[in-house]
This record gives sequence, structure tokens and C-alpha cells, in this order.
Amino acid sequence: MADNGEMETTARARKPLAFLEGEIEELKARGLFRRLRVVQSEQKSRCVIDGREVITLSSNNYLGLNTHPRLKRAALDATERFGAGSGAVRTIAGTMSLHEELEARLAGFKHVEATLTFQSGFTCNTGAIPILAPEGAVIVSDALNHASIIDGIRLTKADRKIFPHADVDALRAALREVRDAPGGADRTVLVITDGVFSMDGDIARLPEITEAAEEAEAIVYVDDAHASGVLGRNGRGSIDHFDLHGRVHVQVGTLSKAIGVLGGYVAGSATLRTVLEHRARPFLFSTSHPPAVAAACLAAIDVLEAEPDLIERLWENTRFFKAGLARLGFDIGQSETPITPVIAGSGALAMKLSDRLFEQGVFAQGIGFPTVPDDRSRVRTIVTAEHTREELETCLAAFEKVGRELALI
Ligand SMILES: *Cc1c(COP(=O)(O)O)cnc(C)c1O
Repeated sequence: MADNGEMETTARARKPLAFLEGEIEELKARGLFRRLRVVQSEQKSRCVIDGREVITLSSNNYLGLNTHPRLKRAALDATERFGAGSGAVRTIAGTMSLHEELEARLAGFKHVEATLTFQSGFTCNTGAIPILAPEGAVIVSDALNHASIIDGIRLTKADRKIFPHADVDALRAALREVRDAPGGADRTVLVITDGVFSMDGDIARLPEITEAAEEAEAIVYVDDAHASGVLGRNGRGSIDHFDLHGRVHVQVGTLSKAIGVLGGYVAGSATLRTVLEHRARPFLFSTSHPPAVAAACLAAIDVLEAEPDLIERLWENTRFFKAGLARLGFDIGQSETPITPVIAGSGALAMKLSDRLFEQGVFAQGIGFPTVPDDRSRVRTIVTAEHTREELETCLAAFEKVGRELALI
């Protein structure tokens, strides 16, 4: 009896979630179903994934900092001194001296008055955008902005205008339309763009975007996740790359990619920081970084300042690998950074390309809809400073073999 009762409960309990099975069926039908690949070693250029030693082209570990001895040592020391966790959200009792030290250091590094760290780059956007775009404001956003920006925008009651990717004329037109409408002159207007676009690797046209925003007296907000540690002097980001210091009101940086650890920060004025401290919901309602994270991020900035050759090597590898893929005849889009997409076409073909490369000992993740348009599905490659020339040659040989097999070249 008891068994029967349990079975009935199970059958009933499964029904409300039946749509989830439908979702999986749909993914499978479209060739987009993925199993997570499991990394069983350090995340270096060569690592063990699903029991196999491969060269990875899928990490955001641009400079190899996540295994840098100085970062590991700093994390261990901080754990010994301050413990494994921070114990509370920042506003209750979770602001530690290390958090403040990191923020002051980041502000100096970025040439801004103040920064505030968040648990991730993602929560920077969901935390800051709603505050910068109160009800009645207008957000003008690039069509290819990162998902966390889109979610941040969804949390506001502001009006939205999405301009076609990188189309500065369309941005100007959108800004004019806002300002010329009745009451438009008094509205808060927020222009948001990625600094480097994460799926295509192109750099935002920030000088023109900034100029357009200045003409319209709009706030400029640049999410520099993929530029942090990659562009600008010592990896200061896209604002430094274009020498736009003082003209971009809000910058978001991530500590999770080239910096090699975890987290994000909002950089700007001291006033902005103070308001975020009081109002940004991920800051108010989610626990702060463990001491090890803050300490390792501090060490990462030391490394950026002390070892600029890491960034030079990253860019040498980038040029070498892009030239190799182009020579083989792949469609590699418009990238200007170490992110190089290899366009396959359909989602199913991109996944196949990724799977066949993996069998050849190269891990490059397939990416399809909804992250990119279905007919522009791709494997995305990111080279790092750690890749040796020989590793990159091995990767190119694998791309050549599999590319011919799948008639991509
Ligand atoms: C990766 C990324 C993020 C998220 O950063 P995390 O620190 O990993 O949460 C935010 N914005 C952009 C543009 C990104 O590429």
C-alpha cells in the first residue's frame, strides 16, 4: 500500500513540471542539447576535461592568472588570517578590510573616484542599472549587449530603445527622438554598451558613442567584462584603450575573466558608489566575497602592473591564431580581440564542430541560439597568454582537419 501511495504521489508531482521535459526534447530536436563538460584539473591552456587531456580554447583565463602563484598565495594567506567566508552581507557585518582595500586599489587602477565590488559582473548590472534608470528614464542599449545587461534593464521601469549592434547613427537617432519628444529634455537617459562584445569579439566604438551621449547629455555606461585585463595600459580596459578617462560615467569590470578569480565592480564617482551601497539589491541582500577572493584579486592587480609582458603575449597569440584561422578559410567574423568566433552556420553544425574538435584534443565550446542568432552558430575560441606556439599550431591543425570534414573550408 505504502509503495503504491508513493508512486501515485510521484506521478502527480511530476505533472506540473512536465513542460521541462518538453524543453529538453526541443533542445534535442534542434541539436542544441549539451552535457556540461567537466574540468578535472587546473584551468590552464592544457587541461583534463571529461577524462581527456585537451588544449582548451574556451576559458576566459586570458592571462593565466587563475593559477598564478601570487594569486594562490594571496588566497591562502587571506584564508589563514580572515577565514573561509565573510559571514554576512556587506551592509550588516560583511564588509572586511580586504574588500575596502580592493575597491580603493581598483579605483586607483581605473583612474576613477571610487569603485564598489559585487559578487559577479552579472550582479553589477542587475544591481546598478535599476538605480541609474529610475521610472521615467530611458535606456538606450546595443542589441548585442550581454544577458546581464538585458536582465538589469528588465528590472527597471524605464523605457527602452534597442539600437542595431554598433550602429552609432541609429544611437544618435534614438537619442534625438528621446530629447525632441515632449518632456524629453528633462528625462534621465542611459546609454549602455559592452566594451568588448562577448560572442563576436568586436570593440564598441566608444569615442563616437561617448560623443553622441555627450551631445544628448546622457549617462554613458560601459560593461568592460571582456576588456578588463585585455585592453588598455596594463589591462585597464576599453576606456583607457581609447583614452576616454573622465568621459564615461559608469564602468563595469569583471574580476572573473582575465583577473582570474570571481566578482565584478562598478567604477565611477564617489556619489555613485555611495548610492549603490545604499540601494543596489545584490549588494544589500547577498553575502560578500570570501576573503580569499578579495585578496587574490588584489594580487591580480599587482601582477597586471608588474608583468605587462603577459598582455603582450596574449596579443601575439591572438594575432597568430586569427591569421591561421583566416588563412585556412574559416569565417571568423569581425573580431578585434582574443575572442575569435568560428562561424559554422546552424546550431547543430556548430555543436558537431565542437564535438569533432574535442575528439582531436581541442576544446572549443559550441554556441547557438539564443546566445547567438541560429544561422550564426559557432564555436567561440579564446586564446590566452599561456598557450604555446606549438599548442596553437596543434589547434589550427585540428581546425583544418575537422573544417574540411564538415565542409566549412
Ligand atoms: C561575462 C560577462 C559578464 C558577467 O561577468 P561575471 O563576472 O562572470 O558574472 C557581464 N557582462 C559582460 C559583457 C560579460 O561578458
